[in-house]
Amino acid sequence: GFRSRAAFKLLQLDEKFGFLKRGQRIVDLGAAPGGWTQIAVDRSKSDKGGTGQVIGIDLLEMEPVPGATTFQMDFTIPEAPARLKALLQGPADIVMSDMAANTTGHTQTDHLRIAGLAEMAYQFAVEVLAPGGTFICKLFQGGAERELLAQMKKDFATVRHAKPAASRQDSSETYLVAMGFRNVAAPAAA
Ligand code: SAM
Repeated sequence: GFRSRAAFKLLQLDEKFGFLKRGQRIVDLGAAPGGWTQIAVDRSKSDKGGTGQVIGIDLLEMEPVPGATTFQMDFTIPEAPARLKALLQGPADIVMSDMAANTTGHTQTDHLRIAGLAEMAYQFAVEVLAPGGTFICKLFQGGAERELLAQMKKDFATVRHAKPAASRQDSSETYLVAMGFRNVAAPAAA
């Protein structure tokens, strides 16, 4: 079984977009209790061990997920992206963030906070993603994500909003799925 109901959101996003594949290197931001991590391991690693790699980080302690490397740290401190990069054995195929700060009850504050986490996740993603890679992150509709969206559309072939059925209909939670990373930082071919 899965450790979280959130697991079904990732499965539904993958059903729609088909980004999970064998042999991938996947970074899971806000991984606890580990539902997305379980799916990432299941889909990326072959029965024979395979070449996939799954790394997860969360503010909270989490039970280890066999086949994944997870650690407890606040993603927003500089040590966190550095540690993730040190663990990566090559460019990432997927950076996915289900991070959500504890809600304050003040809608605007909550939206800004989650948009801030999404922006940091994005900055990290463009530094580690392989060409063709995928970035997924949780957002709230009405959040301060307009600039982020504009940037994403430059950096990726496709950027889509999606609300998986497993996401409560009365919540404004939504996901952004960006596929086909263009790796604009790399020198263009002559
Ligand atoms: N995808 C997970 C799963 O399937 O089990 C559920 C993730 S849960 C909705 C959001 C997680 O984001 C929480 O565990 C929370 O601790 C984490 N989080 C929030 N802010 C964070 C931060 N600054 N750094 C790391 N993790 C953070």
